Amino acid sequence: MVMIVSGSGYNLNRVILVDGYVDEPTCLGVPPYLSTYPRYIAGAIWTHSPKTEIEYITIDQVRKSFERFQNRWSTADLIILVAGMIVPGKYLGGTPISVREAKTIFSASSLVSIPKLLAGPWGQFGCGIEGGKMALSSDVLSPPFDIIIDGDPEVVIGQLAQGWNLNDIQTSRTRNDASEIEEYILRGTEIVTQHFGLHSGYILCEIETYRGCSRSLTGGCSFCVEPLYGTPQQRSIDAILQEIECLYTRGVRAFRIGRQADLFTFGSPQMGLEEFPRPKPETIEKLFSGIRRVAPDLTVLHIDNVNPGTIARYPEECREIVQSIIKYHTPGDTAALGIESLDPEVIKKNNLKATPEESLAAIKLLNEVGGARPKWGLPHLLPGINLLYGLPGERKKTLECNFQFLKNLVEEELLVRRINIRQVIEFSGSFMEDKGKRIKPNQFFQHKKRIRESIDRAMIERVAPAGTIIRSAFLERTDGKTGVFRPLGTYPLQCHSPIDSPPITSVNLFVVDHGPRSLTTLPFPLQVSSASLSHWKKIPGFGAKRAARIKASQNLRSIEDLQAQVDVEIPFWLHHALSFE
Ligand code: SF4
Repeated sequence: MVMIVSGSGYNLNRVILVDGYVDEPTCLGVPPYLSTYPRYIAGAIWTHSPKTEIEYITIDQVRKSFERFQNRWSTADLIILVAGMIVPGKYLGGTPISVREAKTIFSASSLVSIPKLLAGPWGQFGCGIEGGKMALSSDVLSPPFDIIIDGDPEVVIGQLAQGWNLNDIQTSRTRNDASEIEEYILRGTEIVTQHFGLHSGYILCEIETYRGCSRSLTGGCSFCVEPLYGTPQQRSIDAILQEIECLYTRGVRAFRIGRQADLFTFGSPQMGLEEFPRPKPETIEKLFSGIRRVAPDLTVLHIDNVNPGTIARYPEECREIVQSIIKYHTPGDTAALGIESLDPEVIKKNNLKATPEESLAAIKLLNEVGGARPKWGLPHLLPGINLLYGLPGERKKTLECNFQFLKNLVEEELLVRRINIRQVIEFSGSFMEDKGKRIKPNQFFQHKKRIRESIDRAMIERVAPAGTIIRSAFLERTDGKTGVFRPLGTYPLQCHSPIDSPPITSVNLFVVDHGPRSLTTLPFPLQVSSASLSHWKKIPGFGAKRAARIKASQNLRSIEDLQAQVDVEIPFWLHHALSFE
């Protein structure tokens, strides 16, 4: 721990900003996502201290060469860690920092004399470890951290950059409204130039439209930390567009409008006055058309959270909103519906946002308006479903309520892009006093398996049937001779594809088969003259013998030539995916 002494203002020549990643209900920051936190913090420093050198680094980069970084950090004036898993999931693009790791890294003897600040959800709400467990108090990280910021990091660090003493800064200070930090937001866009993924295009910036939840008027959902931010604070459309334009100018091409409780209510004059504000479709039209104007060659424009209760109450306004979004976004988009439970008892006990009937109405509307797809493409905008387990009132019947609801969706031929099954983390400050009885861990895992096996597979086959093209997918890991790819975007599909050598840039793929939660894919288009044996073997019905026959054939110039080599009919969806050049 550093002894913090009073004196003249703190000198910030060089700051190390470590991104340990965040995942909270309304903000994701695990690569390829870059959350708002590092951007806003860097902007706060540069607004008040433009000459400060900030070195941004992700925790995955640190892991690769900690000793090298330790040496570089030992001459810094300040080290900031951004971290916080509130709704931890499984990630392919990066591994969030753990509490133990944070303790080890930041306790290094060479860093003892450098002040260290903990920022982000860990500082604000405590350290969530994993679903089903109580979050630890942030104090477990003090030491090695000298200051735990439980207010808004950019506001608190802004004080430091203005020359406040370390021991005088108000660590609990929050912004009064969004306009207070707009300059920070713009200046902070510069930090993306240090992001490891910028040059390859492997970066997606999470964009905030508002913070807080209008349902805080009635206490909000029992498990959620968002109402702790108080009355919603909305940003102006102009401010959001300026931010996106700056990010775009610096090279970012992928955006998710995901930092809000419910995108469909953004711009509502009833925000903060009504539990379910009436949406204002003109605002969404203006926002999305504006984004296309300031970022004309963007590659991804997706959304995230939508409240099913809003759609059920205001179907006409929401229909217009979906139409506006699909006019300007990129297909393969998901409106994540925080349904959480379909058990009326759990819904009531936890003040959840929608009844099963309302959730069904929202899913139907999204299918009806957002379910259309470009030729051989993914559907435009489908619902995603978030389910949460471990809530007060939960019982064995809850599992059956949830499963039957999902089964009914399959029977009604409704599409759901993905079902997110998580266990609640309890944070002090959320309203989960009534512990009551909950289902046992083995019941939870069996239930999850049942959904994965009987619902997910049916859904993925319909969402991405054979022949569907997945554009600009990045290799995220290899598994022997198989590459695991994902395109940028909200809840991207996992694509398994045979590879001989890792591709340097993103690739286009097409679907040939399905696993319960992933796709088997091949490069699009598949060059018939150079396709390998393992490529041909992946096509259902071909098998090793037919694949070998095709591979041995010379001068295949058409589908007919190819058909002559195999004694099974070449599936219709393969025709458009082959290239005979
Ligand atoms: S609707 Fe519920 S889950 Fe969503 S942000 Fe508000 S309180 Fe949280």
